[in-house]
Amino acid sequence: MTKRIFRSTLFVAVVVLIACFVTILGVLYGHFHDIAENQLKDQARIIARAVENEGIAYFEDFESIANRITWISADGKVLYDSHSPAEELENHADREEFIEALASGEGSSRRYSSTRMEYMTYFAYRLSDGSVLRVSITHQSVYTLTLNMLNPILMIIAVAVALSAFLAMRLAKRIIKPLENLNLDEPLKNDAYEELAPLLTRLEHQHRQLNAHMEELTRRKNEFNTISDGMNEGMVLLDGKNNVISINKRARQLFNAGEDSVGKDFLTLCRRTDIQEAIASAAAGDKAELNVELGGREYQVEADPVMSGSKVQATALIFFDVTDKSRAEQMRREFTANVSHELRTPLHTISGSAEIIKDGLVEPEDVPRFAERVYDESQRMISLVEDLMRISRLDEGAEDVERVPLSLMELAEDAVKRLKPSAEEKNISLNISGDSGALTGVKPLLSELVYNLCDNAIKYNRENGRVDINIKEDEKRVVLSVSDTGIGIEHESLDRVFERFYRVDKSHSKAIGGTGLGLSIVKHAALLHGAGIELDSEPGKGTEVRVSFPV
Ligand code: ADP
Repeated sequence: MTKRIFRSTLFVAVVVLIACFVTILGVLYGHFHDIAENQLKDQARIIARAVENEGIAYFEDFESIANRITWISADGKVLYDSHSPAEELENHADREEFIEALASGEGSSRRYSSTRMEYMTYFAYRLSDGSVLRVSITHQSVYTLTLNMLNPILMIIAVAVALSAFLAMRLAKRIIKPLENLNLDEPLKNDAYEELAPLLTRLEHQHRQLNAHMEELTRRKNEFNTISDGMNEGMVLLDGKNNVISINKRARQLFNAGEDSVGKDFLTLCRRTDIQEAIASAAAGDKAELNVELGGREYQVEADPVMSGSKVQATALIFFDVTDKSRAEQMRREFTANVSHELRTPLHTISGSAEIIKDGLVEPEDVPRFAERVYDESQRMISLVEDLMRISRLDEGAEDVERVPLSLMELAEDAVKRLKPSAEEKNISLNISGDSGALTGVKPLLSELVYNLCDNAIKYNRENGRVDINIKEDEKRVVLSVSDTGIGIEHESLDRVFERFYRVDKSHSKAIGGTGLGLSIVKHAALLHGAGIELDSEPGKGTEVRVSFPV
């Protein structure tokens, strides 16, 4: 803008200067012309007087001057001409100034001279003998005079243009300075030009509108961020060029990305070709779905086109964490396989024994042995089926089961009583100590929990070992501890013993009637009562299980 004001001001100054220059030249030309004409008249009169006195002799030693002098007789014949031989010149009787001078004593005219071939001004003066003396001047002379003034005028103009340029620049800067210093954040506080007041008022209005819009946008953005960041699913919005428009907290964690990933190409966050293909498909308008593994977890990815009319405006990527779901599915599959496997073995034994007896291949004295095997395997199946039923009841949810006040000590004493025969078989001492352990809970489940822990402590114990059952209670919790002096559990199996059908030593467990379900029932029952389980074990020394119930 400074340049524009500068250029305009300078242009006006130069135009004015040129106009002045032309006007001055015109005025000068007129002025010089008048002077030249007056001089011409004076000269004509003086020469006329001299010629009147001296006749043609006056011209004999006449020094040629710039002005042309012509002496014409009364009949128009040229008697003398300062610039051409008189005899060569035609009769001048028809010349305007000559006719006028003859008539009134003086005459003048301005015209093109065929003799000189240029524009001339003539002045004629009649002498007493009727002849006429004429003096003429070329326009050229006036031009020359005027043009002589050109150089100083041009110099003045050059100085004036330079001065104008300097002043125009200063002026432009001075005009622009208040505009440069305008405070656009608070338009009404400016004190620049009166003429700017409507514009500044308008700006202030728009400023306020803009602020209100910005606030609304920020509020909506925060709202959106709060909602999307609170989502368990990862969500990424991409524009048509695959640049990230929005990415929520979960997705940022998934791709180890920072909040600055907005605006970046999604390729910089994830280079997986399968996900990129899904994005390309969504960008073409087709929804795509796939399962991927990211950071050790399994995700179902949905790439949806976001349409505006018939055009795909953006792509929404949603990452559902399906790890637990697929783990549960896998567990269900494994559970079914395990159940079938666990049931098949005793069933084979039963059916095999029954077949041999049916075919009469067993000696009568061996029948009781076979019958015992059938009985043992059916017992095993019964306990397996009972455990399975308990597990499936727990799976279905035992929240609605009635909770009653009970004493953990009573349950422990009951378990000890039931397990006494098997403990005696291995000469294991069962010691019970501690508080009453008053709780509110599901009695059959807690009874099962205590029984299973004590049963394991006996089953995986050595001959002459001991089992200590201790119950400790304070205002906050009741802790049941069952410790034994048995075979212990290897470190790497500690986390797995609570899984269904997991057994450290499968054949040993089976041999002693284990189903691999005891501890998973314990875990379920504890979870249902909000209790935590801790397991300490050292192979060859023994195991301690602590279940801590909140009161
Ligand atoms: P099981 O019916 O085979 O006893 P559990 O779920 O009760 O099944 O136990 C799972 C596995 O954990 C057992 O097979 C056994 O290997 C191990 N285990 C459980 N309790 C003890 C313990 N007190 N001492 C040593 N090993 C144990």
